[in-house]
Amino acid sequence: MKLDVDVLRYLSKDDFRVLTAVEMGMRNHEIVPTELIDRIASLKHGGTYKVLKNLLKHKLLHHDSSKYDGFRLTYLGYDFLAIKTMVNRGVFAAVGRQIGVGKESDIFEVATEDGTVLAMKLHRLGRISFRAVKSKRDYLRHRSSYNWLYLSRLAALKEFAFMKALEEHGFPVPKAVDCNRHCVVMSLVQGYPLVQVKQLQNPETVFETIIGLVVHLAEHGLIHCDFNEFNIMIDDNEKVTMIDFPQMVSVSHRNAQMYFDRDVECIFKFFGKRFNLSFKEHTDENDGSDVDSDENGRPTFSSISKLAGFLDKELAASGFSRKDQDDIEKFIEGGIEKDRSSDTEGTEDEEHESKSSETIKRTLDSLHLLEKEENTSNFIEEGKVYENQQSCE
Ligand code: ADP
Ligand code: MG
Repeated sequence: MKLDVDVLRYLSKDDFRVLTAVEMGMRNHEIVPTELIDRIASLKHGGTYKVLKNLLKHKLLHHDSSKYDGFRLTYLGYDFLAIKTMVNRGVFAAVGRQIGVGKESDIFEVATEDGTVLAMKLHRLGRISFRAVKSKRDYLRHRSSYNWLYLSRLAALKEFAFMKALEEHGFPVPKAVDCNRHCVVMSLVQGYPLVQVKQLQNPETVFETIIGLVVHLAEHGLIHCDFNEFNIMIDDNEKVTMIDFPQMVSVSHRNAQMYFDRDVECIFKFFGKRFNLSFKEHTDENDGSDVDSDENGRPTFSSISKLAGFLDKELAASGFSRKDQDDIEKFIEGGIEKDRSSDTEGTEDEEHESKSSETIKRTLDSLHLLEKEENTSNFIEEGKVYENQQSCE
């Protein structure tokens, strides 16, 4: 996505006031009536209308007059609110190039006042899922109280909370710096996603480290659920860092075993194919671990002694509640299944499109689709979206 942050510089205090008013209105309106925006922003002399035009021109808002005259935030508008808040807090001072287009996020480099480069992840929950709108339709019908603002904010909050907790427990993850709305700022990982790595000095060691992480996570009561070559970074010294946590679940989840086995299988498959590792040989050597392996060398979920309560206790303390976890799990679970099936069925064009950085238009298109599907105006739980959110003024 082209994130033209220069626009930020030209936006006035009034522009942000109106943008924030639309955000507030979206608590309980899919499309916020223009009149309500004017009332919330309360600019003098009908100033709101002029500002709305300007925000529309910069694609920070979308105008909709199908039911009544109103506006809603675009992803870009939401991005700007989060970025402005981060800049005001002194978290970073400049936004640089885009370094990643994830399944449901865009990742940018950002720089602090003293020149330190960090990574900013903007969550776009529902982006891929909307690609398979048809299969998603039934799903969304039952989830009328969620929208992308709410879900993307939850995803960011969850990612931030997990990153912090995992770091505190010694896992190799980026350092969590700050979180606002759908935006997470973290340390920049030096290195590349494993998927881009064609050769390793010590593939066996890297493999063991990675499988060790899956087991170690489970011992801490967690399953990554999307543990694969895209979410493992590796540097020139073959040091491993894991990323991407919004879909993690507890080992007490009803499908825990399946998610665990799937994570393990992804790693075995990848290392077998890319680095020609043969696993039976490997596991025949006794590595001294307490974890049993099956006849194919895979660690067995049932043999791992798990610490209970990690999720509930530590994450609740970080502001990510059990209810938040349930909400996001319901959505992402559907999403993961759909993504995986649409990945294998996807055409090359689709694949290419999902990797391109021209996501804004697609995102907006997706939202149109969603709005047609979602025939409700009261689709965010009252007071839920914004309770931890600070105004950017
Ligand atoms: P998604 O949830 O959308 O898959 P990820 O968190 O996996 O997003 O990030 C997508 C890509 O962005 C990664 O594959 C990686 O290349 C890059 N990336 C993400 N976080 C960082 C980071 N902290 N440092 C460097 N690159 C990162
Ligand atoms: Mg990822």
